[in-house]
Amino acid sequence: MKKLFGGLEGGGTKFVCAVGNNPEQILEEVRFPTTTPVETIGKAIAFFKKYDLAAIGLATFGPLDLNPFSPLYGSIVATPKEGWSNTDILGKFHQAFDQPVALDTDVNAAAFGEWYWVPNNRELESLVYFTIGTGIGAGIIINGHLVHGLTHPEAGHMRLPHDRKKDPFPGICPFHGDCFEGLASGPAMNRHWRLLAEQLPDNHPAWDLEATYIAYALVNEIMILSPQRIVLGGGVMERRLLFPLIRRKVRDMLNGYISSPVFAGTLEKYIVPPALGNRAGILGALALAKTIK
Ligand code: ZN
Repeated sequence: MKKLFGGLEGGGTKFVCAVGNNPEQILEEVRFPTTTPVETIGKAIAFFKKYDLAAIGLATFGPLDLNPFSPLYGSIVATPKEGWSNTDILGKFHQAFDQPVALDTDVNAAAFGEWYWVPNNRELESLVYFTIGTGIGAGIIINGHLVHGLTHPEAGHMRLPHDRKKDPFPGICPFHGDCFEGLASGPAMNRHWRLLAEQLPDNHPAWDLEATYIAYALVNEIMILSPQRIVLGGGVMERRLLFPLIRRKVRDMLNGYISSPVFAGTLEKYIVPPALGNRAGILGALALAKTIK
């Protein structure tokens, strides 16, 4: 019986490929820069060809067409990443391998990895994972499955209350201006404050405003989905001072409305950093391979 699985995390700047069975048993892992689709996908396929794999999981940047009835199913569709629009990544893997291949977005895979591999997440029926960094995205697990719907959720582009008297920054999303990503992604912070997020000191007002926007988004998600846990990852969330600020603001905004004992406490176990750290994506890709139907 084949026991080895392949996982691929494809980002706008680099691809990571790993072969193994679980987070403790990774046989080999490689990373290379994202260049052209032909070269980059070719390198990934050559890497996986060295092994006798049971299945492969692909987790890539999007937007992806994940509708099996669409002619572009399995493709990276209109992306600002030059040369990658309409790249049929799933098709290329299907041509190269007889084994099953799963495809999902990088953020969905990270959400799934956090749920699948982390014991105290796995016991939950629902979990939301936000990545807040270069962009903002969310993966949603309900009853142990990723939510897809029409395509995949785009909670990073939800609209938030934006008091332009207090914060006149118009936001940077090319589609919506001041959506969540437009106001609170790393590049939005950079444009707003003219400093990189990592250069902003802890006592800068940027952090309180950032925590406010993230808390609004979490409250929306809590009201709609009632998730049992929310994981916050991505480059911006590496600034750990955000966690206590966000937890306090979420509690204040909910204002006692939800009667779960979860909201009586400090939310330290409810709004959490990723247990897998920056490995959530690649380990999530491996989990996609392991659970393929
Ligand atoms: Zn937007």
